[in-house]
Amino acid sequence: MKIDGKCHCGNITYVLHWPGEGTSIPVRACSCTFCTKHGGTYTSHREARLAAAVHDAALVSRYKFGTETAEFHLCARCGVVPFVTSTIEGNLYAVVNVNSFEGIDPSCFSRAVTDFDGETTESRLDRRKRNWIPSVTIAS
Ligand SMILES: [Zn+2]
Repeated sequence: MKIDGKCHCGNITYVLHWPGEGTSIPVRACSCTFCTKHGGTYTSHREARLAAAVHDAALVSRYKFGTETAEFHLCARCGVVPFVTSTIEGNLYAVVNVNSFEGIDPSCFSRAVTDFDGETTESRLDRRKRNWIPSVTIAS
């Protein structure tokens, strides 16, 4: 199935190609300090594909902190973070913020809380390689 999403003002849009019917989309409330403040709730699937488009790249802040291995794509106009990316061994991986989905009933979400605080950078990157969306394009 295809899931459309965008930031609030529409500067960042995307189509998430999701395998299967999307009747049970696993979502994780990230407990990192940034996502706690933002209410960031993410999904990913190894067989998903993310095609994003940025209309005005000057209005996208790519925020990093801590280990600086993930980039939060933050719309500087409306403040929404539609997705997060990580470049690992030359490949771009992503997780998508389900709060930026359009027209998806939240009853499809199966929620879990995650806490990755104790992870080493190496195990963090290994986990992303296993679980994050491995096919990501960002057009601008
Ligand atoms: Zn925006």
